[in-house]
Amino acid sequence: MDRGQVTNPKDLEHMQGELVSLARRISELEDTELEVMEQLECAQQEHARLQARLTEIDERTAELSTARDAKAGETTAAMAAATDERQGTVQDIPEDLLALYEKLRAQKAGVGAAALVRRRCTGCSLDLTAADLGAIAKASPDLVLRCEECDRILVRTAESGV
Ligand SMILES: [Zn+2]
Repeated sequence: MDRGQVTNPKDLEHMQGELVSLARRISELEDTELEVMEQLECAQQEHARLQARLTEIDERTAELSTARDAKAGETTAAMAAATDERQGTVQDIPEDLLALYEKLRAQKAGVGAAALVRRRCTGCSLDLTAADLGAIAKASPDLVLRCEECDRILVRTAESGV
């Protein structure tokens, strides 16, 4: 033992057993290392795939944001034009009629007046009776008509059928 030599056969046997055991353990660890490397490779591929998808989503989000902003701009411009047009139209309407219209508009989901088209109120789809139509035909063009069903202002048109 003093020169690093094992002379006892039992010790030698024991050391050989340990060497075999260590060799087996090294082999197991190498297998595990391979498995971990494979898992790492899969995870890296998945990471790259998700990164690419994220980039696509970011690009699409940017496109949609641009489109939304453009649409919002168009809508704002259209609203401004409609508001201008409304102000021009409102100037010609008597104040009391306008007040009635605004009151009905607030009550009737934003539609205060409806056209009478082919004997039907376009506000509520009620077909007017022959008697109602007769009365309308005789009424002064300045008289404000109301639908009996939905109460909206009924606007006579060339297609009213009166
Ligand atoms: Zn109606």
